[in-house]
Amino acid sequence: MAETEKIADVLLPLRLDHPYSYRMEGEQSLNAGAYVRVPLGPREETGVVWAVREAAPERKLRAIREVIGLPPMSALQRRFVEWVAHYYVAEKGQVLRMCLRAKEAFRPARERLAWKASGARPARMTPQREKVLALAGEGPALSAVELARLAGVSPAVVRGLIDAGALSPVALPKDAPFEPPDVSASRGKALSSEQEAAAQALRAAAARRDFSVTLLDGVTGSGKTEVYFEAMAAALAAGRQVLLLLPEIALTGQFIRRVTARFGAAPAEWHSEMTQAARARVFRAVADGSAKVVVAARSGLFLPWRNLGLIVVDEEHEGAYKQEGGVPYHGRDMAVVLGALGRFPVVLSSATPSLESMANVDRGRYGHIMLKQRHGAARLPEVSLIDLGEEPPERGRWLSAPLVRAVTETLGKGEQALLFLNRRGYAPLTLCRACGHRLECPDCTAWLVQHRFRDVLMCHHCGHEKPLPETCPSCGAAGQMAAVGPGVERLAEEAGERWPDARIAVLSSDLQKGAALRALIEAIGRGEYDIVVGTQLVAKGHHFPRLTLAGVVDADLALETADPRAGERTWQLLAQVAGRAGRASRPGRALIQTWMSANPLMKALAAGDREGFLAHEKRMRKAAGMPPYGQLAALIVSGGDEAATLAFCKALAARRPLAKDILVLGPASAPIAMVRGRRRFRFLVKAPRSADMQAYLGAWLSGVKPPGNIRLDVDVDPYSFL
Ligand code: ADP
Ligand code: ZN
Repeated sequence: MAETEKIADVLLPLRLDHPYSYRMEGEQSLNAGAYVRVPLGPREETGVVWAVREAAPERKLRAIREVIGLPPMSALQRRFVEWVAHYYVAEKGQVLRMCLRAKEAFRPARERLAWKASGARPARMTPQREKVLALAGEGPALSAVELARLAGVSPAVVRGLIDAGALSPVALPKDAPFEPPDVSASRGKALSSEQEAAAQALRAAAARRDFSVTLLDGVTGSGKTEVYFEAMAAALAAGRQVLLLLPEIALTGQFIRRVTARFGAAPAEWHSEMTQAARARVFRAVADGSAKVVVAARSGLFLPWRNLGLIVVDEEHEGAYKQEGGVPYHGRDMAVVLGALGRFPVVLSSATPSLESMANVDRGRYGHIMLKQRHGAARLPEVSLIDLGEEPPERGRWLSAPLVRAVTETLGKGEQALLFLNRRGYAPLTLCRACGHRLECPDCTAWLVQHRFRDVLMCHHCGHEKPLPETCPSCGAAGQMAAVGPGVERLAEEAGERWPDARIAVLSSDLQKGAALRALIEAIGRGEYDIVVGTQLVAKGHHFPRLTLAGVVDADLALETADPRAGERTWQLLAQVAGRAGRASRPGRALIQTWMSANPLMKALAAGDREGFLAHEKRMRKAAGMPPYGQLAALIVSGGDEAATLAFCKALAARRPLAKDILVLGPASAPIAMVRGRRRFRFLVKAPRSADMQAYLGAWLSGVKPPGNIRLDVDVDPYSFL
C-alpha cells in the first residue's frame, strides 16, 4: 500500500469558493476548524482548516506555517459560513472574511499597560487633571484610553500626567477578562402582569434549548427590553452565551448601561468603531466562552461562538440590519438561520415588526407575543395629521402654524420637541434663478446637496464635494444660486429663528459619527437640549424621557420611491418617530405634516390602526407576488464604459435559463443610473416562494466572468432598489 500523508484543506478569506490544500508537517495534529497561517504566493494568509484528509504525497504542496493558539472554529460556525455563502450566492471565502475581522486576535495577546495614580501631584493642576487622578486613585488600573474616556477628557490630558510622573505604569496580563453576569431575578425590574406573561413565555423558550423564533411585538415604551432581558437571564443561567443584536446606532452608552445594570457586569460590545485591540479581546473571549453577554451590530453573528444559546434581535424591522456591499446579507434573517443550525431560540423584538416577520407569524412558524401598553403611567402619543394643503408653511419656511404652536407650548412646559426630516444637509437642490440650471454631481445621477455647516456642496452617492459657486456655472449670472427644499440644517436654521433661546441639537450621520454621535444622543437623553432636529437616526429605539412632541416635517418623502417596501418603511419610520414622544411620565403627541392626508397609510397612522394598515399592505404584496409572499434577487451590473456595460448585460440576458414561474426583468437602467462615473444597470429576478432561487442564479451565472472593469453584484432579498 502506498504511503500517504496528512493534508489540510484550508479556506482562505478571499474571493474563493474552495479551500486550498496544504501539507501538515510532522507532529501537527490538526482538526477541522483550526486557525492557521499558510503561505499564499509570496504572502502569508490566515485561514481556517475546513477538512483534514490522508492522500498520496504531492510534491508541490506547501506546508502550513503556523497553527494559531485559539480554540478552533466550531462545526456550527463552519456550517453557517457555508449556508450564508450558498444563500447569497457568494464565495465561501468572502463569508469567512467576515469571521476573521479581528486581525490582532490571531497574534499572541500582548501585555497591556495600565496606569495608577503614583501619589506625586503634578506642578500644574487643572479640573481635568483632577478628574483623571481621582479615577486613577481608586479601583482597578485603567489604560490611558479608558482613563481619558471615563474622565471625559482628551487623551492629551492623560499623556500630560504620565509625563509629569503623576501616573505610574502597571502591566496587566493580556486581555482583561469579562466579568461574569449576575442573572438573579432580583436585578430585573418588577414586571407588570402583561410583561411577566411575556417574560414567562420567553424564559420557557430559552429553557427548551431548541430552535424557535418568537416575535416580541410591543408598542414603543412597553418594556420589551426588560422582557427580553429575562430571556437572556434564563439562557445565561443555563450556562449559555447570549447575543443581543442592535442596529449599530442604537449601541449607545445609555443602552449599554441598562444591560450592565441588569446583569451586574458590562457586556462585551462589538461594532464598527472599535480599536483592533478591543476587537481581539472580544473575539478571544467569545471563542473561549468567557464573554457571556455580547451586545453587537449585525456582524456579531460572525463571532466565533463557543456555546451560543440565544439571539435577541432588537428593532428587528430596521433596514440597518441589511448589509449593502460585500456579502449583502440580512442580519435578522441570518440570526434566524444561525438559531436553526445551532438549535437555540431567537427573539425578534419590535414595535413595528417587518412584514417578513408578520408573515412568518401568520404561517405559524414564529411565536407571537404582544405588549399592548406602555410601561407605568406612560401613554402612547396621540397622533394627528397636519394637511399641508390647508395649513401651508410660509414661503421659504417648512413648519406649519399648528406645528409651530405645538413646539412653543412644549418648550413653555420645559419639555423637549423633536423635528424629524429624513434628509441630510441644508438643501437637496441648488439651482440658478436666472437660467434654471441645477447643480449635479459630475460622476453620479444625483443633485449636489448643500451642506451649510461644512460649507460645501456634496454628492450623497460618491462623496464628491465642491464649494458653492458664486456665479452659475451654466449662464454665468452672479448671486442667483438658490437653495431649493429643506434638509435638517435648514430646518435647524428655521427653528433657531423661531425659538432663539432654545438649545437645538442637529442629529445627522454626516455631522457626528461614532463616539461623538453617541455622546450627543446621551446629552439629549439627559435633557440638555430643547429641540432635536434629526434624520432617521432619531427613530432608532432611543429613550428620551423629556421628549413629549414629535413633529414630522415631511411624511411623504419615502413614499415617492419605486421601492416595494416604501409604504411599510414609511409606516415604521413614522410610527417609531412618533413613539419617541411621551415615553416617561408626561404625555406625548405626534404631529405629522403631509400633502397626502387622504392616503390610507396616513389615515391609518392617525387612527392608530396598525392592523388595518398591515392588512392592506399584505393584500398588495400578495397580489403583486412581492416579498414576503414571493422572492426577489437583483443583479447590478456597472462599468465605466456604457456601451461595453450594456453589451455585457445583453449577453447576460441572452444566457438566462428559462424556468417556469421565474421572471427576469431587465436589464434596465438603474434609478441612480451613474455612480462614481460608472454606468449602472439592474436585473430583477422574481420568483414564487417555492422556487430555488439559488439554483436558478447558480445556473445562470456559473462561469460568467465580467470583462474589463465591469462588475456584477448579486443581491438576494434586496432592500435597496436604487
Ligand atoms: P421598549 O423597549 O418596549 O421601547 P423599554 O424596555 O425601553 O421599552 O421601556 C421603556 C422605559 O420604561 C424604560 O426606561 C424602562 O426601564 C421602563 N420600564 C419598562 N418596564 C418597566 C418595569 N416593569 N419597571 C420599571 N421600569 C420599567
Ligand atoms: Zn457623485
